[in-house]
Amino acid sequence: MDSRPATERQPRLSVVANEETGTAKWDSERVMILPPDLLTAIQKQLESTLGAAGGGLLFIAAERQAAETVEVPRGFRPGSAGIPREILEAAGRRQGSLGLGRVRFGEIAGGVVVFTVENNPFALAHGPAAKPVCHLYRGWGAGILHRLTGDEYYCEEAECVATGASTCRFVARPARMR
Ligand SMILES: [Zn+2]
Repeated sequence: MDSRPATERQPRLSVVANEETGTAKWDSERVMILPPDLLTAIQKQLESTLGAAGGGLLFIAAERQAAETVEVPRGFRPGSAGIPREILEAAGRRQGSLGLGRVRFGEIAGGVVVFTVENNPFALAHGPAAKPVCHLYRGWGAGILHRLTGDEYYCEEAECVATGASTCRFVARPARMR
C-alpha cells in the first residue's frame, strides 16, 4: 500500500485488467471487478433467508472492512483530531475511483456526518424497493467514522434511489447519541 498520506496523493489511474494473467490492478493494489448485480443477488438472498438480519450482516461486514482499510496518516490516533474532513474526502474519492459512485460529504457537526452517493451502483442494481437498500454504504460510513473517532457509529440511509429519491443520502452519528 502507498505509504504517503491520502491527502498528499494524486488521484489514482483507472483500474487496468489483464486478461492473460487474470488480474486487475489499481495502481499497485490488486482489485477484482464484480458486476453490481452479483452483490445485489447476494444481498437479496441474504434478506430472503434472514429478513432484516441479512441487511445487518452486510452492514457489519462493510463496517469492518472500511475501518480496516481507510487510509490515515502514520501514527494517527482515533479521536485525536476530531473528524478530519480531508480523510473522509480521500476515502470518498477512493470509492469513486473504484466505480462505487460519487461520494460527497455535507455538514459535519457535533459528531454527526451527512454524505450523499450519486451513481450508486448498489441502489441502481437493486431496483425499486420499499425501504433503503444500501447497507454496504451504511457500513462504509460507520466503519470509517469508527476508525477516525474511536466511537461506535450508527449510520442510517435517510433517502435511497431504490425508493425513488434522486440520490442516496446517509446520516451517521455516534451510537451513544441514538
Ligand atoms: Zn441507497
